[in-house]
Amino acid sequence: MASNALMNNYGTRAITVTKGSGSWLWDDQGKKYLDAISGIAVCGLGHAHPAVTAALSEQAATLVHASNLYNLQPQEQLAEKLRALSSMDNMFFANSGAEANEAAIKLARLHGNNKGIAVPTIVVMDNAFHGRTMATLTATGNPKVQLGFTPCLDGFVRVPFGDADAVEAAVKSNPNIVAVLVEPIQGEGGIHTPNDDYLKQLRTLCDNHDLLLMLDEIQTGNGRTGKYFAYQHADILPDVLTTAKGLGNGVPIGVCMASGKASQLMQPGSHGSTFGGNPLACSVGLAVVDTLQKDNLAERAAQLGEQLQHQLRERLSQCPHFVEVRGKGLMIGIELTHPCAQLVAAAAAKGLLITVTAERVIRLLPPLNLTDNEASLLVDTLVTLIEEFSS
Ligand SMILES: *Cc1c(COP(=O)(O)O)cnc(C)c1O
Repeated sequence: MASNALMNNYGTRAITVTKGSGSWLWDDQGKKYLDAISGIAVCGLGHAHPAVTAALSEQAATLVHASNLYNLQPQEQLAEKLRALSSMDNMFFANSGAEANEAAIKLARLHGNNKGIAVPTIVVMDNAFHGRTMATLTATGNPKVQLGFTPCLDGFVRVPFGDADAVEAAVKSNPNIVAVLVEPIQGEGGIHTPNDDYLKQLRTLCDNHDLLLMLDEIQTGNGRTGKYFAYQHADILPDVLTTAKGLGNGVPIGVCMASGKASQLMQPGSHGSTFGGNPLACSVGLAVVDTLQKDNLAERAAQLGEQLQHQLRERLSQCPHFVEVRGKGLMIGIELTHPCAQLVAAAAAKGLLITVTAERVIRLLPPLNLTDNEASLLVDTLVTLIEEFSS
């Protein structure tokens, strides 16, 4: 039973989770669930991964926090590692996705103010999700996230996702535009994958108009889509890149990275965070990145994702309520013809944890090291579930 000492913002929750191991979670009744959500794209290595446990306990016994008044070795090591992986130049560590995006939004405003633009304006997308702080909920393209929290911030304009021409039209009609903020694949918005040339078109547009191309890879980063970062499918480099979720495997960490001219915008005193980049979070981040690389988990996500999408498409093609399977790597959406929120509880009863987003889209974000047997169980359970829903 949930405690009324908690605010009601998460509503009623059906399951009390008490422990995890690999791709599995257990509830307080001892029931076991295959976790196809990984704490919302966070536990890419699965639960209680030994490399994470070791990094946590070793760093906890060494140094948890000293503040950014000092050089911190794990912070510097993780920055070097992420620089090598991303080709970005430098970075700022935060504690969450929204905070990483706040830093990105501040970089865009610095870029605009340096150019003498009075109201620096960022292009954002329909159905986007960038977080719940005031600036990031303004950037988020979902009226439900903004409901009751107006006034939103100035300095954002919205266009349809996946349409580079719409961005160009906005840029041409508004001289205040300084940046474009976009998810390479929309997650919360319903697993929407744009055309392959979309990011390249945005890159060219941003180059031509001196805008910052800012990619929100909070969810798509850290191997999830089959490359370390999703923009690496597109052969471009952004000016600003944020990631969080999968980087800490559950330990709070976010990062905002910059390249080229964007990497010169922050000056001493212009931004900061008490907890950001603390040794505990950064040591875990290092262990996560090392494990992702050592175990080739981005490649595993690419291969398993293709296999899962193919099997689901084959086996659901005759199902009357099935629309399509989409996504990349282990970020998969199954769109149905009808709202299907009740499938979350029906799946849990069968020992499978999923979520539903955008009303009709079943969302799968399993651990990247899901085994072949677990993948088969996932497909079998899902197909049965959707067949029962359709009959
Ligand atoms: C989850 C998410 C965020 C927000 O991250 P928090 O850690 O919840 O603040 C921002 N952008 C995207 C694309 C996300 O998926």
